[in-house]
Amino acid sequence: MSDKNLEALFLHHLKTIYFAETQIGKALPPMIAAAKSPELRSAFETHARETQAQIRRLEQVFEIVSAKPEGAPCDGILGLIKEGEAVMRDFSGGEAFEAALIAAAQSIEHYEIARYGTLRAWARQLGLSEAAEILEESLDEETDTDEILSEIAEDMINEEAV
Ligand code: FE
Ligand code: FE
Repeated sequence: MSDKNLEALFLHHLKTIYFAETQIGKALPPMIAAAKSPELRSAFETHARETQAQIRRLEQVFEIVSAKPEGAPCDGILGLIKEGEAVMRDFSGGEAFEAALIAAAQSIEHYEIARYGTLRAWARQLGLSEAAEILEESLDEETDTDEILSEIAEDMINEEAV
């Protein structure tokens, strides 16, 4: 196998999303602790549990392609997490704090939606239908989380932030 074909690219990004999910798993507990509205805290708690399940799903995909589960450092997710931490610090104690928290979380969800969508398409292209289905389960959870966060923001947080 060439090391620059689609199979290699698929494995590379499987490793970057594995790295990302691990980082997100660490980033969520402080976000849960910081969320004041019960709806937002509960949405983050649910997604923290889903994140652990997503990590296990990625390990299943590694197994399907006979590769060892390992992360590849990804500057994209590290930047999004860092930006979220900075804005949370800057708006700490202010009316718009939870709006900042949601904005940070949604940037991360959009990154994940992009990655899982791409990986699912590549899995299909490579004839890895089981892997494609596993990736789709996580993609659906990311999409649902993004929608729930939009609803929470639009229903209450944004108004309180003004
Ligand atoms: Fe995730
Ligand atoms: Fe997510």
